[in-house]
Amino acid sequence: MEVYKFGGASVKDAAGIKNVSDIISKQVNPKLLVVVSATGKTTNALQLVLNDHYDETKDPFKSLMNVKENHLELINQLFGPDEDLKNEILDTFVEIDWILEEEAHPSFDFEYDQIVSVGELVSSKILYRFLQKLESKVAWLDVRDVILTDNTYREANLDWKVTEERIKSKTEEMFAQFDIIVTQGFIAASSENFTTTLGREGSDFTASIFSFCLDAERLTIWKDVPGVLTADPRLFNDVDKLEKLSYREAIEMTYYGAKVIHPKTIKPLQNKGIPLYVKSFVESEGKGTLISYANEINIPPIIVFEHNQCLFKIATKDFSFVAEDHLSTIFQRIAKHRVKIKMMKNTAVSFIFSVDQNKRIDGLLKDLEEEFNVQIEKDLELMTIRHFTEEVIEKLTKGRKILFEERIPQTIQMIVHRDPSINIKNL
Ligand code: ADP
Ligand code: ASP
Ligand code: MG
Repeated sequence: MEVYKFGGASVKDAAGIKNVSDIISKQVNPKLLVVVSATGKTTNALQLVLNDHYDETKDPFKSLMNVKENHLELINQLFGPDEDLKNEILDTFVEIDWILEEEAHPSFDFEYDQIVSVGELVSSKILYRFLQKLESKVAWLDVRDVILTDNTYREANLDWKVTEERIKSKTEEMFAQFDIIVTQGFIAASSENFTTTLGREGSDFTASIFSFCLDAERLTIWKDVPGVLTADPRLFNDVDKLEKLSYREAIEMTYYGAKVIHPKTIKPLQNKGIPLYVKSFVESEGKGTLISYANEINIPPIIVFEHNQCLFKIATKDFSFVAEDHLSTIFQRIAKHRVKIKMMKNTAVSFIFSVDQNKRIDGLLKDLEEEFNVQIEKDLELMTIRHFTEEVIEKLTKGRKILFEERIPQTIQMIVHRDPSINIKNL
């Protein structure tokens, strides 16, 4: 059996869903499990519904109406006036209506997962019904029946053992009758049966979980790019496609923030040697990029940009050195606020680190300021270059002040001020 994963971009409209169905119907493996994300920008739109729910000046039902209308329009275009399907989809959205009728839950993260997860439930139902129309032996699986996590809402941790058992038994039962199983990426359930999510862009990881648990022959992740490229094509003009990549290199790239695959995706595949193909859903016959145990030779410089970085500089209030006990306190606070360090360095009088600039850093700053002198600098960019050459470093940093730099063999990382005048760069 094999696993396909289709992200939001591939199912963003009726033409997209038809194209995805086309790709699915061309597969030759007798058993296929399809993981699908919410359509287009639905997750962001549902996040807006959630924010409006917490903001008394806003009407969350109005923002929800937009999301519902988009899906009903999609059904119109794919199926014509199919009242049964429309009702099925509206019934799925009713879960959100009920939540919005109540006071906002004290835990924002809990409420987030209950609301935002509906995006994947409805997209997978629409794709499933469309495939059914083409008379495939296709089934729909509620992924919350098989993927079990803890209750760290918005970033839930997997219970691999139970998940593996459930995936094996449930899919065996389903594959006995059907050839294709359609399920949701990104979402899961806790042991209390509440919906959880695996982190933004987590559908790639879901596909990897299924591939691992089912010993898939291969996983194919279908994207709007021809494969893994040497840099983000939204930022750079002259990028090259990488024909093949080792698991190790793919782990490094995604760890440093390459947005093409979710960072948790590769490790489970590597553990079982399952090949990962990253292919274009636009040109589905293309070879894509193969990620495997391959040994690449002559890897070109690979560039990863992380926007919205924030640099923390921490010093003790009594001007003593930042010693181990201070570091222990600092790390505890960082873990408490679930902030992720991108780069860090300890110098004689300060501890410096960079993190994503988001809501969580305000709480962290407040907490750290109780014990330390803290300076922060916002709106920065983190550039990582794997297999760097001096020429590429020179091109990327020309005229820009480097605030923080670290070189290890094969990798250089630099924190620089954001340069709003540069949009697309030539390498
Ligand atoms: P999905 O539809 O699966 O959610 P994403 O939009 O999250 O897909 O990921 C695909 C996008 O990742 C591409 O459109 C591209 O702009 C971006 N990207 C960033 N870095 C790279 C890279 N090194 N190679 C290919 N694509 C990249
Ligand atoms: N729909 C979710 C998101 O937009 C998960 C995913 O697309 O992988 O983050
Ligand atoms: Mg995505």
